[in-house]
Amino acid sequence: MAVPRNRHSNSRKNKKRAHDAKSVTNAVACSNCGKKHLPHRVCPHCGHYAGKNWVNAESE
Ligand SMILES: [Zn+2]
Repeated sequence: MAVPRNRHSNSRKNKKRAHDAKSVTNAVACSNCGKKHLPHRVCPHCGHYAGKNWVNAESE
């Protein structure tokens, strides 16, 4: 097995990991506002789910 000859700095390590973030792959479009959100969840943009506004429903 290859052994690293020189230590990489924390900066170099972190720059290498800058592209390793997870991304949301199963986003669906909101039926009310059309923005992307997780399926089976209340839309974080407009608060709608299953044809109803669940956030601040009393004020409307
Ligand atoms: Zn929405």
